Amino acid sequence: MNAVPVFASTIGGKPVETGNMLPVYDKFTGELYAQVHQPGRDDVHLAVTEAKRSQAIVPFPVMKRHEVLSKAAALMKERASELADAMVAEAGKLRRDALNEVYWSVDLFAESAEEAKRLHGETFMLPVPGLERKTCYTMRVPVGVVAAITPYNFPLNLVAHKVAPALGAGNAVILKPAAQTPVVAFLLADILRDAGLPEGYLHVLGGEGPTVGEWLLEDERIDLYSFTGSVPVGRRIKERTGLRRVALELGSNSATIVHSDADPVAAARACVQGGFANAGQVCISVQRVYVHESIRDAFVRELTMQAKALVVGDPHDESTDVGPMISEREAERVHEWIGEAIAQGASALTGNRREGALVWPTVLVDVKPDMKVMRREVFGPVICVASYRSLEEAIDLVNDSEYGLQAGIMTRDLHAAMEATRGIRAGGVIVGGTSAFRIGSMPYGGVKNSGIGREGPRYAMEEMSDLKTVVILD
Ligand code: NAD
Repeated sequence: MNAVPVFASTIGGKPVETGNMLPVYDKFTGELYAQVHQPGRDDVHLAVTEAKRSQAIVPFPVMKRHEVLSKAAALMKERASELADAMVAEAGKLRRDALNEVYWSVDLFAESAEEAKRLHGETFMLPVPGLERKTCYTMRVPVGVVAAITPYNFPLNLVAHKVAPALGAGNAVILKPAAQTPVVAFLLADILRDAGLPEGYLHVLGGEGPTVGEWLLEDERIDLYSFTGSVPVGRRIKERTGLRRVALELGSNSATIVHSDADPVAAARACVQGGFANAGQVCISVQRVYVHESIRDAFVRELTMQAKALVVGDPHDESTDVGPMISEREAERVHEWIGEAIAQGASALTGNRREGALVWPTVLVDVKPDMKVMRREVFGPVICVASYRSLEEAIDLVNDSEYGLQAGIMTRDLHAAMEATRGIRAGGVIVGGTSAFRIGSMPYGGVKNSGIGREGPRYAMEEMSDLKTVVILD
């Protein structure tokens, strides 16, 4: 066997080689792909000490931030192939999806470089007799040290959504990538070092949530936790961090309405793309579809036909459409939920098949609101279809969820679109598309149990900086 690459955190300029190895597997072949030295508790706290120290003594002025982030974007482009290969192996991503993810991340760095220059305050009047000629203004200052804790499903893009704006706003960052997919985060750290990031402004700590993650939560010197992941872990982070700030991007069982005027073929195509991309492991994946009863049969026929045509298998193979899930255990869970729904009266029109970590795209009909596949976040390649009579009913069905990340409505009917955008309780509503639409720059985040705060470089930078008010009574 070839020697696998080994990664270690660098703290205080030195690699921390603990010998406590975290194995990273190729998610399709199951072979060992890389190993990471997991830092111990003292190393984690030392990383925070170093981040604080660097921030206090190493200047990182705005034009330097702009330069580093722009250069990092250019280097990521140059190393796109290597970054993509890492994600094909450690996350089981299709290569074309992995390359797209690199380019989205390049955009996030380029945009954060620009936004860094625009992070400014406002000047105010003081409308009080005698103070009219005095000056009051606000400025944005870094919060300090940001802990970025990220999930496995977009191991570069979701890291970029945190690291780029956090650095752009002048913070030092401690990054804890998902234990299943740490390699691409280490490659990014390399790129940032080559781009001239000042020493100590980024520490990557590869390790498990219950150890490295928890040690981060107990360190009172961290000023902001920026987390993307599941609801239980988000809840835990909020409970543990007291008065310190948190930004939480959590899960969802996202819904899409296919209205009576929609083209069933185009709507099915959009749902197949939005429900089965990345094997359904997307926080805004199309999970619940509510289709108007007048086009229900045509839509379901198309959806099933298109889902059946998808090629499931090796993500290294160009012809594959749906690769493996992150682990066999996760695939088993999804398959069990499908089985449970069928036992409760649902029918699978396609899919309902698993081999190892592969789950075949599954279309379920005759679903009921309280089935797990409807109520909880499936986070796998499953689309549940139910029909509705009135738009009002459809909006109520969409809102019948503990989550509220994003929803979609496929229609060209302006009135229906406006009713839906007003009535749906979510962080975002996509008109003419599915829930699964995201562009990096747009404000993105949830309501209800889908989270707190918004990402997108400009919005993340606001969350990752403090507004300081200055009054000059000269
Ligand atoms: P997860 O919550 O299991 O893990 C996310 C991160 O938290 C990982 O780095 C993990 O190691 C860490 N962690 C786990 N336990 C911890 C603890 N006790 N203390 C500190 N850190 C801990 O999530 P996942 O399974 O990697 O990702 C899937 C979830 O992420 C889904 O629920 C999905 O919807 C959500 N997600 C949300 C968005 C969004 O933008 N809203 C985007 C992608 C994924």
